[in-house]
Amino acid sequence: MDLTSLDRIRAAHDRTDLALGPGSAPLAGGTWLFSEPQPDLTELVDLTTLRWPAIEVTPGGLSVAATCTIRTLVDHPAVPGWVSQHLVAQCARSLVASEKIWDWATVGGNVCVALPAGALTTLAVALDATAVVWTADGEERREPVAAFVTGVRTTTLRPGEVLRALELDAAVLAEPAAFRRVALTRHGRSGAIVVGRRAGDGLVVTLTAGVTHPHRLAFPDVPSADELRAAVEQVDDWYDDPHGAPDWRRAMTLRLAEQVREELA
Ligand SMILES: Cc1cc2nc3c(=O)[nH]c(=O)nc-3n(C[C@H](O)[C@H](O)[C@H](O)COP(=O)(O)OP(=O)(O)OC[C@H]3O[C@@H](n4cnc5c(N)ncnc54)[C@H](O)[C@@H]3O)c2cc1C
Repeated sequence: MDLTSLDRIRAAHDRTDLALGPGSAPLAGGTWLFSEPQPDLTELVDLTTLRWPAIEVTPGGLSVAATCTIRTLVDHPAVPGWVSQHLVAQCARSLVASEKIWDWATVGGNVCVALPAGALTTLAVALDATAVVWTADGEERREPVAAFVTGVRTTTLRPGEVLRALELDAAVLAEPAAFRRVALTRHGRSGAIVVGRRAGDGLVVTLTAGVTHPHRLAFPDVPSADELRAAVEQVDDWYDDPHGAPDWRRAMTLRLAEQVREELA
């Protein structure tokens, strides 16, 4: 849609162009920004013109630029030994969008918009990704994506900060993972997503979509069904919108969590 409050769209070419004043916001793929009115915005600063390399394979794993499109991440060739790489396509497919959106929507845009059904947020939390944030004073800070997304449309980003990249650890990518998702309708928005990952002798279970912010439940050993159920029952922020009532999301999350536990045990 036309954003009639905008005065300009500015292309960023280096970090000094990222000064974001009141009324300014970063523009990535624009698929969310241009999907609803943004009356408080007067300027968009295009991040894609910074031409950050989309994906860098490092000895430690992967560095995915915030501006990497979902398409580029999905198309990244399989790396031998990275047995949880299948999560990339599974998470991308859980976006309620035609694949055309994958060509524009970025990994960083999906995480920063912080919707409960954030498909790339799910991926990042499930793989213990680290968010690399460029701060307004020219510095950098890092934090787990699990802590970066704090609620419905809220993150720890402070004014003037930009998400630069997500870092994924090769050792984590080498751990087996299982994905489960449910929606009220066949092509509906995710109602609940659960991803399990074997971490050594233990299990890490990530809950998204059914909750207002991601939950990461870590167990030193594979929990029993009762132990896992008890941990999920501690969650008290079940999300409520037309894509699912809180009691349904809770029941589905419990069911999906048990399925991933059984698959990975
Ligand atoms: C048809 C359709 C279906 C959708 N279905 C889903 C769905 O199922 N689940 C879901 O989670 N979302 C869904 N969305 C919304 C989705 O989150 C976005 O479309 C997409 O992931 C956002 O990416 P983008 O690159 O287009 O971000 P943009 O629209 O460019 O930006 C999104 C927000 O993030 C900010 N931002 C972007 N990049 C950065 C950065 N690097 N640092 C700081 N701030 C930044 C922007 O200022 C803006 O506030 C859907 C959208 C459409 C159009």
